[in-house]
Amino acid sequence: ITAEALTNQALDNIKDDAEKLNTFITVNDKATEDAKKVDAEGFNDLLAGIPIGIKDNIVTNGIKTTAASKILYNFMPVYSATVMEKLAAAGAINVGKTNLDEFAMGSSTETSYYGTSVNPWDFSRVPGGSSGGSAAAVAAGEVVAALGTDTGGSIRQPAAFNGIFGIKPTYGRVSRWGVIAFASSLDQVGVMSKRVEDSATVLSVIAGHDDKDSTSSNKDVPDYRADLNKDMHGVKIAVPKEFWHEGTHPDVLDNVNKALEAYKKMGATVEEVSLPTLKHAVEVYYVLASSEASSNLQRYDGVRYGYRAKDVKNIKDLFVNSRSEGFGDEVKRRIMLGTFSLSAGAYDAYFKKAAEVRTIFINEMNDVLKDYDLIMGPSTTTPAFKIGEKVDDPLAMYMNDILTIPANLAGLPAASVPAGLADGMPVGLQIIGKPFAEQDVLNAAYALQ
Ligand code: GLN
Repeated sequence: ITAEALTNQALDNIKDDAEKLNTFITVNDKATEDAKKVDAEGFNDLLAGIPIGIKDNIVTNGIKTTAASKILYNFMPVYSATVMEKLAAAGAINVGKTNLDEFAMGSSTETSYYGTSVNPWDFSRVPGGSSGGSAAAVAAGEVVAALGTDTGGSIRQPAAFNGIFGIKPTYGRVSRWGVIAFASSLDQVGVMSKRVEDSATVLSVIAGHDDKDSTSSNKDVPDYRADLNKDMHGVKIAVPKEFWHEGTHPDVLDNVNKALEAYKKMGATVEEVSLPTLKHAVEVYYVLASSEASSNLQRYDGVRYGYRAKDVKNIKDLFVNSRSEGFGDEVKRRIMLGTFSLSAGAYDAYFKKAAEVRTIFINEMNDVLKDYDLIMGPSTTTPAFKIGEKVDDPLAMYMNDILTIPANLAGLPAASVPAGLADGMPVGLQIIGKPFAEQDVLNAAYALQ
């Protein structure tokens, strides 16, 4: 099969599903041309000619990049993110830009200016978020793999909700250059796919040092796919008792327990541990993430690019009106929360306190990983919720992230792998590894697949 045929098939599927699922904001109308080039040049990379969906907060030269916000409705980048350069060099085909919560702030894609995406398992439910378009596109078979970003769970939660695999690498494993910043101490690009092998392949391509991102690591990049194995003998698994959160769906617990039993049969040991500070993780995350977001989002001023308010009388009106009209409610909520936390009167009690508690929590996670290879638990407390169910209740929406936030606060690699059903909807097992031990995380997922 040619790259061109594969790409056209993906484009057709995306078009056929568009009204139902709304997975893509922009389809790449040059994808077929790119695929023809790959066919002509005879790439031999595993990814050559493979159609991939790209979350629309990753900038793509000459392809509109919106971050699902009105404020970037007309933003045409003149450069590509490093991850895009790397994918192109491997011959992968970007078929388009997937839907997300506005600026990746949310857990359902309902905050997108371009309308919510829909869960292909049940059209009345959310696909999760913020990388919900990527997850639904993979689950519906529109693309083989998709890039997502994960600041507080935005790859793992939608992967769990759509019954697919998704991995957030260690902080610093993948360059963030050209990725629209949300919370820079937490953001990381990762991959989603049905099969673990495919995410492993893509991750090896996009990982590695980048001179343009000083937070990217110099560590060598393994060939994750070549080193995949299912050997769980002697692997030590820690299960934090706080991950059995009250309000967790009983079938989620049941499925996670079954997965842990399966690992025991494969020769792993499973023991309970405690992460006492987990109970503060959501508060810590929302103070820190909002503070960083309020700073990162200052650049959208209606002057340099993006949406510009009309009929303004002076420069202040230009800023205020462009931002008031260009940002959605959730983004404004974060900007206000973050600006407040960073203000002189509140800094010590909010931002500084949250940063201190984060350090305590990081130490707790790292202490567990001194004695264990992996930390496991559910990816989410429930399967995908209904569209509209939580959209007017930001606190309920925020609490939903309790199980995914820990890996971001501590910068650890973490994945969600399908582990059964609850209410007929997919459930995810979460696997967290030591820093730069993506291979261990992938192997454990592969063993369960
Ligand atoms: N749901 C979380 C939030 O709204 C995580 C988002 C993300 O990982 N990008 O902040």
